[in-house]
Amino acid sequence: MAGANKPFMPQLIYFEPRALEYPLGKELFDRFSKLEVEIRETTSHNQIRDLPGDNDFQKYRTAKSTLVVGIRKTLKFDTSKPSAEYAIPLATGCMGHCHYCYLQTTLGSKPYLRTYVNTDEIFAQAEKYMQERAPEITRFEASCTSDIVGIDHLTHNLKRAIEFFGATDLGRLRFTTKYHHVDHLLDAKHQGKTRFRFSVNSNYVIKNFELGTSPLEERINAAIKVAEAGYPLGFIVAPLYLHKDWEEGYKELFDILEAKIPKHLTNDLTFELIQHRFTKPAKRVIEKNYPKSKLEMNEEERKYKWGRYGIGKYVYQDDQATRLRETVENYIHTMFPQAKIEYFT
Ligand code: SF4
Repeated sequence: MAGANKPFMPQLIYFEPRALEYPLGKELFDRFSKLEVEIRETTSHNQIRDLPGDNDFQKYRTAKSTLVVGIRKTLKFDTSKPSAEYAIPLATGCMGHCHYCYLQTTLGSKPYLRTYVNTDEIFAQAEKYMQERAPEITRFEASCTSDIVGIDHLTHNLKRAIEFFGATDLGRLRFTTKYHHVDHLLDAKHQGKTRFRFSVNSNYVIKNFELGTSPLEERINAAIKVAEAGYPLGFIVAPLYLHKDWEEGYKELFDILEAKIPKHLTNDLTFELIQHRFTKPAKRVIEKNYPKSKLEMNEEERKYKWGRYGIGKYVYQDDQATRLRETVENYIHTMFPQAKIEYFT
């Protein structure tokens, strides 16, 4: 599968009938009806069982290009440490095919995309969380359950969220993406309250594991555009992965970033560093859906860490993690001395 130069277009769209009770649901129905894409009705996303495809492998691929327009029923937001206080649910699922993706754990057998039309209810809930924490700032992460930028050209939910937080005193929005389709977000009234982060990695990781996403060069060009539009900018280097010649691979990445990002855009730059991890359920999904993947997931070579919902994860051994951290932090300190490293995990 090649990279995503064109914005995502679903092959199949489902509507939950209640979505049409909301103005946004109606608007999306009218807009999608004009496209050459099949539209079906479903009482609930849980009822979707008859996706086209002869076997699980094909059905998985169909699911990743299926969009369900529905209502977000659970309005209790998850926490989202370390990058924010809360995860704001604007969409779920992603059309990308990153082998290591965390959605392999959280979505498992339901990898289709969902977008929610009850955004006013979601924003009202965010407002409550902000009031509870006032006068502290409350940060909301919009990419915990999807690559929200990658589908936003279809719905503009993210743009609404950016403008909602732009008008608040105590709310901050953040999200990360591997897509470059940002043009409709450039004129959003963000008021500097949204941090736009791009996920970047070594050429080896992008080439082997990040299928169906935008090429690095496009991500960097988009990063420059959003920073020029006044958004605070960040990069997430994730997953940091120990491949052959990884020191060189990451050095090359930072050399490219340093060469491309204009100096005047680096005063308020952040980096977040996340080492590769996997869970046992994710490993099973990955081996089934990407049987030829080169992704190394050998439990014996890793360190086990207890995780949320009783699902433990396998990370690198301490000495490997320290080397990764020190090496990459050193590149950042040398090439972007003003940038802030928010965390390594
Ligand atoms: Fe997962 Fe992000 Fe890749 Fe989408 S772009 S498949 S959310 S890692």
